[in-house]
Amino acid sequence: MDKFIRSVRLDEAACQGCINCIKYCPTQAIRVHNGKAHIIDKFCIDCGRCIRYCPHHAKIPAYDPLTVINDFKYTVALPAPSLYAQYNNLSNVDIVLNALIRLGFDDVYEVSAAAELVSEISREYIQAHEEDAPFISSACPSVVRLIRVKFPSLIPRLLPIKPPVEIAAEIARKRAMKKTGLPSKEIGIIFISPCPSKVSYAKAPLGIDKSNIDKVVAIKDVYPLLLPLMSRDESQLRPLSASGRIGIGWGNSGGEIGGLLTDNYLAADGIVNILRVLEAMEDEKIHGLKFAELNACSGGCVGGTLTVENAYVATAKTKRLLKYQPVSRSHLATTPEAGNLYWDDNVEYEPVFRLGNTFKESLEMMSTVEALTQKFPGLDCGSCGAPTCQTLAEDIVRGAATSNDCIYVLREHISSLSKEIEHLSKSINLSGNCQDENTQLLCDYIQKLTAELSEFGVPKKEE
Ligand code: SF4
Ligand code: SF4
Repeated sequence: MDKFIRSVRLDEAACQGCINCIKYCPTQAIRVHNGKAHIIDKFCIDCGRCIRYCPHHAKIPAYDPLTVINDFKYTVALPAPSLYAQYNNLSNVDIVLNALIRLGFDDVYEVSAAAELVSEISREYIQAHEEDAPFISSACPSVVRLIRVKFPSLIPRLLPIKPPVEIAAEIARKRAMKKTGLPSKEIGIIFISPCPSKVSYAKAPLGIDKSNIDKVVAIKDVYPLLLPLMSRDESQLRPLSASGRIGIGWGNSGGEIGGLLTDNYLAADGIVNILRVLEAMEDEKIHGLKFAELNACSGGCVGGTLTVENAYVATAKTKRLLKYQPVSRSHLATTPEAGNLYWDDNVEYEPVFRLGNTFKESLEMMSTVEALTQKFPGLDCGSCGAPTCQTLAEDIVRGAATSNDCIYVLREHISSLSKEIEHLSKSINLSGNCQDENTQLLCDYIQKLTAELSEFGVPKKEE
């Protein structure tokens, strides 16, 4: 399994090499070389920010087409809670769930139902391990991936509980197998996702060995297809929903905390805010905190790049919908298929940003990076294709760039080369001695260099 799988791709033809994206990547995972952006796999946490900020729509999320429904004998849709937030004036979740059945799914199981189970077990876990608080939510795969590569000291703080989508997939599979008698491979568990990071999670999950999610489709693909199928005539609706306010609220920032029924919590959203919170937690600057709910997308999952509605409008729509819901409808005691809700695997630190193989080597390389960074103008202009002067210095130390990638260094280099050539030319009295066998080679060399320099805008010396 590829540990650094990512679901954000580059459309090379669309990329203009404008370097916009390199400035917005929170992990400095993008470089622009030869006029095209390039994502460094191991640095990317699938946050989707580059998708949002590319003015040429060259960064694209990868996910499955809805035709995957046809790949299985029996399919179960797992709608994310953020799907409901896309629709206007929704008062009954069953309107969306029944439309999914009309679209072609054989059954549905809400991720929000599993979220209520996660809320229940999280409450128990936090209470039983109060001395190890503060805990960090492990529901957003981008946050878990960020902690895995940048904040090793915070890994033990991650709540070791499977995310709601995984628990939903396990329950859905068990129920479908029992109901149909079909073998597991003929049942398709299909997640309707708000973001690309959950596409990567399904392929390479953290905390467990293998996910029960077979395919991941995008909310933005499903949304328009459901619209004509959404009958609001309550008498025609099968009662399919198994979640209430606690579960549906998980689609928005602060929703997970709503289910924990605890004080001393923090909810942060947007990857830049998350980085600040994690830095503060790493430096132990936040006191008395029990739990941190962190969502990489602004507004929570409703702000994912695979949704259609503005995150803040979607939040308002969720609030309206929640008014009509009971507090909670799913409980561990009445969901025997839930099985083990805890992680089976540890999340290991991946030191992808470390420069050397050993601490000593890293320290030495770091001092080279500092010295190199001093040579650059400190403008962080991005013209070299790296987001900052320090990142360019790190790339040079890793052997992935040269000082001449900096246009300021290159200009100085050319200028001093030009002066040297001029000096050499004068000293051998170029026009007079080029016929001389002994100086012919040197003359040719000087002329070649002079021609090359002219390509950088340095005028040829008058003959
Ligand atoms: S923002 Fe990045 S991906 Fe988009 S066109 Fe510019 S360089 Fe290419
Ligand atoms: S998805 Fe996020 S981490 Fe990955 S390259 Fe884009 S901005 Fe960077």
